[in-house]
Amino acid sequence: MRSLQLNEARDRFDLLEITSYDVTLDLREETTFASTTVIEVTSKGGDTFLDLKPVALGRIELDGTDLPVDALDDGRYPLTLPAGEHRIVVESAMPFRNDGEGLHRAVDPADGRPYVYQMSFMSAAPSVFACFDQPDLKAPYTLRVAAPDDWIVVANAAGTEVDRGRWEFEQSQPLSTYFVSLVAGPYHRIADHHDGIDLGLLARRSLAPALEKDAEELLTLTRQCFDEFHRLFGIRYAFGKYDQAFVPEFNAGAMENPGCVTFRDPLLFSTRVPRSMRIQRATTVAHEMAHQWFGNLVTPKWWDDLWLNEAFAEYMGNRVTAEVTEFDDALVWAAVARKNWGLTADSRPSTHPVAGNGALDADAALQDFDGISYSKGHAVLTQLAHQVGDDVFLGGVRDHFTRHRFGNATMRDLFGSWEAAGAGDLEPWTAAWLRKAGLDRIELDRQAGAVVRTPPADPADRTHVLGVAAWNGTAWERGEVRVETERTPYVVAPGTPVILDPDDTAWADLTIDPVTAAALPGLLPTMTDPLLRATTWITLRNGVHHARLDPDAAVAMICAGVPAEDQDAAVGTLGVWVGDDGEGARGVVHEKLLATVRDPERSRADVHQTFLARAATAPAGSDLQLAAYQAATGTATSTDWLRALLAGTETPGLEVDAGMRWRVLKRLASLGATDLDELDRELARENDAKTQIAHAWSHARLPDPDAKAWAWQRFTGEAAASNYEIEAIGTGFWASGQDELLMPYVDRYLAEVKGTTAVRSGWGLADGALFFYPITMAGPDLLAGTEQLIGDPELNLSIRRVLVDAGDEVRSRLRTRERYGAS
Ligand SMILES: [Zn+2]
Repeated sequence: MRSLQLNEARDRFDLLEITSYDVTLDLREETTFASTTVIEVTSKGGDTFLDLKPVALGRIELDGTDLPVDALDDGRYPLTLPAGEHRIVVESAMPFRNDGEGLHRAVDPADGRPYVYQMSFMSAAPSVFACFDQPDLKAPYTLRVAAPDDWIVVANAAGTEVDRGRWEFEQSQPLSTYFVSLVAGPYHRIADHHDGIDLGLLARRSLAPALEKDAEELLTLTRQCFDEFHRLFGIRYAFGKYDQAFVPEFNAGAMENPGCVTFRDPLLFSTRVPRSMRIQRATTVAHEMAHQWFGNLVTPKWWDDLWLNEAFAEYMGNRVTAEVTEFDDALVWAAVARKNWGLTADSRPSTHPVAGNGALDADAALQDFDGISYSKGHAVLTQLAHQVGDDVFLGGVRDHFTRHRFGNATMRDLFGSWEAAGAGDLEPWTAAWLRKAGLDRIELDRQAGAVVRTPPADPADRTHVLGVAAWNGTAWERGEVRVETERTPYVVAPGTPVILDPDDTAWADLTIDPVTAAALPGLLPTMTDPLLRATTWITLRNGVHHARLDPDAAVAMICAGVPAEDQDAAVGTLGVWVGDDGEGARGVVHEKLLATVRDPERSRADVHQTFLARAATAPAGSDLQLAAYQAATGTATSTDWLRALLAGTETPGLEVDAGMRWRVLKRLASLGATDLDELDRELARENDAKTQIAHAWSHARLPDPDAKAWAWQRFTGEAAASNYEIEAIGTGFWASGQDELLMPYVDRYLAEVKGTTAVRSGWGLADGALFFYPITMAGPDLLAGTEQLIGDPELNLSIRRVLVDAGDEVRSRLRTRERYGAS
């Protein structure tokens, strides 16, 4: 289907004003649903088109006259609307989808119950109802739903079951099409009320115990964040009630639909998780709440400002979580768990300026919706907030919300509000940080007594107010260097260890210099500041990525630093970076460090012992102990130890629940020390959505030709798989130590990835290409094959983007190996 072009959106915006949508859906069938839309619209007079992606268009009527249904072409229905008011009625059969977009229908494997939710972002609304699908044609919605008797239905506005299975909703506030949503099914709902706002939490019935267990935590967070956003913004939440639904097979982390937020339901914890997962969930809750103002009350006029939407929500979400909730260490978590994502994205060939990409159509905008939008956008917005001060920052934001309430605005509008509030001329800052891509490399030149700034290929004039921490023999002494030119004088006494950016305020390519790297193993245990340790870990990972820090030195630092690390987020993040269970790793990241060291087996044994020792010294039953055991499991090579862990005999304080059991089984699968029978038995013991995904991962990981063939059929689409399964199976498939078995699949990937456009689209298409990429076979041949494929003019844009970054990751690993002598 073609994607809406920016010029088409402008023409339609100039032509139309939408008075209202009235949408009626009948959700009682299983594969399709009846959708009737009545649109009241005023036209200035001219030709336009309606967006509509049905299975079958039954009837379309304009001002009481039937129009030919066969005029529908590739998702668009052409309309001539003379000047004046019009009424359009569209009746169609729409598809239930299973790719997390449109109206997604999933069956819970735990009990066979069906669940439905609507994801309209960014261009899926027309597969639910006929509409003029662009962010700046807002209108109020009235929704009616027919559903099976035992379902509940929530949507953007408040609704009631007026008769058995018949739901009617109040007219909503003006909404953009991309955040029109509903959640329907036999969901378990918990109701509450705070400060005039009705609150709801929803989850599948099989997850009701997990929802009940965490309801008070989630509701407390919600109340605290509402209070704080009301205080900071001075403007009331505008969408009436507030439901938060944990829904199955959701692609993103969450979606900010006004009054009807959807979250991926792995964020409900049916097994024990470390605190860092709770922080992640808390910041997500706060992030979506921030969007209720920024994004929903005032909406980007076009997709090129999506980055600002995300950067703002990320900044406010992390800040408010740290300031008013129990998760006062949220900023340490955000640093250690998220920053390298953005730093790496900003150094890839696919990097792009934060802002001003034009985004000529929605598909192109989605290509640039990545770590740059979230992580770098967040970092630079934090920098701006510090620079202008809170009064100016929040003053400008309030002005922006007031001026454009229930409307749309651009980045220029917001920056205008900040300038009017006293920020001064923001143009130089914007040009340097938002309109140019890439990272400045900043290094310490001890001989020259200078900090050296090296700009990326497309340079910008960026000023860095760089924090430094220098070890004076007894303490880390803080200072600041204003880096405005290529060389800035900064003299340190010979042999002094120096950490750059100890407070996580910089956005730059930093590394740990050799003098500091040699001293750090001795000093890491003395670092009492968790943020200083976090920035050390960030810099360590960045240095290895850019082949400026010896990966063996990084192993030594992990072995020295983890025993004194008390943040489970740091232990967990390092565990994922080093280990190979792929949990939380986005495909091409996994096993990065061990893929580049000189003696992987020895290094694996060393870090495993380190994590194990940390688990032993952590308080029994603590989150830290859990994170350390998880990291130890992902690096274990002793099947005896893993079997003992599974039996629960040697790990006091550790609850061996389904989550932990599957971690162990995954590792046993990697070592070839389990089989499909055992995996099947474990699944039968507890069969739900999460254990099915873990089973799929483990099955794909088995060093067995049949298992690999089974996995490959999911990649090529010969056998169906959900997006969650694709991620798990692809991540499980590629494993170090299985080269002989996997070798034929390198060429098969290169030959077959193009064809996956026939079986997947959207998120799933890119995920398939990413997670099945043969990263464990990184070498010159893979690089050559990848580059050849990238050069193919027929290659799908999403797949090309994945391959460009994957090829860069291969290059990074080869560069590190070449430089530091690993073969
Ligand atoms: Zn967001």
